[in-house]
Amino acid sequence: MNPKGLIWDAIKEATRLIVASYNDAFLSDFADEFDSYWSKTEGGKNIVSLLSPGGVSRKVSLWCSTVHYYLGDDDAALENWLRNRFPGNKEDFRFTTASHIVLKRPILPSEYPKSGAAVLRFLRELAPESIEQLEDAAEAADDKFTVSFEGCTDDGPVLFAIEVMPPNKRGMKAGRRPNMVQKGFRPGKVPTHIRMQRLFGGNKVERHEVVRADPSWIHGRDTPTVAPLFDKRVLMVGAGSLGSEAALLLAKTGVGSITLVDPEVLDYPNVGRHVLGVAEVRTYKAKSLAEELARRFPHMRSIKYFNEDWQTLYGKDPEVFHNTDLIVSTVGSWEAEGRLNQLARNEPDFPPVIYGWAEPFSVAGHAALIGSDGPCFACGMDHFGSTLRAICEWDTKTTRKQPHCGASFQPYGPVSLSGVAALVAKTTTKALLGEMTPGTEAVYWASKDEIVEQGGRFTREFLNFFPDVPEFGGTRQLEWRRKGDCAFCGGG
Ligand SMILES: [Zn+2]
Repeated sequence: MNPKGLIWDAIKEATRLIVASYNDAFLSDFADEFDSYWSKTEGGKNIVSLLSPGGVSRKVSLWCSTVHYYLGDDDAALENWLRNRFPGNKEDFRFTTASHIVLKRPILPSEYPKSGAAVLRFLRELAPESIEQLEDAAEAADDKFTVSFEGCTDDGPVLFAIEVMPPNKRGMKAGRRPNMVQKGFRPGKVPTHIRMQRLFGGNKVERHEVVRADPSWIHGRDTPTVAPLFDKRVLMVGAGSLGSEAALLLAKTGVGSITLVDPEVLDYPNVGRHVLGVAEVRTYKAKSLAEELARRFPHMRSIKYFNEDWQTLYGKDPEVFHNTDLIVSTVGSWEAEGRLNQLARNEPDFPPVIYGWAEPFSVAGHAALIGSDGPCFACGMDHFGSTLRAICEWDTKTTRKQPHCGASFQPYGPVSLSGVAALVAKTTTKALLGEMTPGTEAVYWASKDEIVEQGGRFTREFLNFFPDVPEFGGTRQLEWRRKGDCAFCGGG
C-alpha cells in the first residue's frame, strides 16, 4: 500500500474530471488569460514569432541568439527579418528546424507538459494528425528541439512553445550518447510504440514564452483588413516631407512592399518636416527612409530604394514601375508629374497613379487617383500645372525667398502637413483595397480659422461646389473631371 500515491492518483483523477467538464465559455475565458497562466520555466526562452497564425501544422525555421529565439516560416523569411532588425549584424545566421503545431484549443494548466510523454498525451486529443510530424522532428534532432503551438480560440490564436530535451542519460553529452531509440533492435525494426516511448518518455520539457511579431498582429491585432494590404506593392515617387510621412503611414497601416524613388539628399531645413532627422542629413532621402522603415517594420515583405529621379530609373528599369500595384507621386513638380502622366497614359498596363500635393501653408491638400482611362492628371490642371480646383486662394504671394541663394520656397508647418500626408495615405489604402475608383480626387482642408490666419480664404469655385464647407476642416471625395481640350489625353 502507498497511501500518498493513492491520494495523488485520486487528485489526478479529480483534475481529469474537472478538465473534462470545462465548457466552451470557460475555455474562452481561460484563453483570454492564457499569458498569465503560461510562463517560461527556468531554462525557457522568449520566442519572437514571425509566423502568421491561421495556417496548418508545419516545419518552420528557428534562429537562436544568446538571448532570444526567433521563429519564421522559412530560412529566407527569417533571414530577411533578422537583416532588417539587426542591420549591423554581419554574421551568417545559422538556422535550425522547429515544429509548429496547430491545436484545437490551448492546453489547460493541468496539461502543461513536464515530460515528452505529457506532450504526446495532449497531442492525441488536440492534434493527432501532427504526431507523425513531431516524431520526425524528434528523430532528426541531434539534441533538444523546439515545438511551437497555436491553440485556436473564438477570439483568435494563443501561441506558446516548448523545448523537448533529448532522451539521454544524465551527464552524457549530446552527440556522444548511444542511439537510445535504436538500442536493442535492428535498424528500422524498433516497434512504433517502443520508439515513441523512447522519444517521448520521461525526457524533460522546458516551457518558452512566445510573443507575436507577425504583420497581422503588429498592424492591428488581427484586424481582417491587414492581410490584403500586406500583399500590396506601392512605388513612392518622391520621398520628401509629404512623401516620407505618407510612406511611414502606409508602412504603419501594413502595406507590405514599398519602393522609394528620390534623387535628393536630406538637408538641415528639411528635418523639421521630414520623417528623417539630423542624423540622416547629407544622406539620400530614399536610402535612409528605406533603412528607417526596415528598422521599424522588419517584417515588411520588401523595402527598396532608388537614389535617382523617376525618369532615370524608368529609362534603366521600367519593370520597377510595372511590378507595382500603385504609384504615389508627391514630387509636386509639374515638369516631372506632367511626364509621368504622359507615360502612364501611353504605356500599356501601367498601374494607376495617385498624385498628392499640398496647397500653400498645407492648409489644404489633394490626392487624385488617375487610371489608364478616364480623365488624365492634366485634365484637372491649367497650362502651368496649377490645379483648376484649388481649395484656397491668397491675395499675397505665398512663396518666400531663401536668403543666400535666391531660391524660393513655400513655407508650411509640420502639423498641417500631417493632414495632407494622412489624406494621401488614406487615399492610397482605399485605392489598394478597391474602395476608390480611378478618376476620383480626395481633398482635405484645415479649419477656416487656420486658413484665415495664414491670409487665405476658400475659393469661390470650391464654395460653389461645396457650399456647406465645415468650418473646422474636413475631407471629401470629388470627381476628377475630364477636360474637353486636354493637351495630354484630348479629353477623349
Ligand atoms: Zn487629360
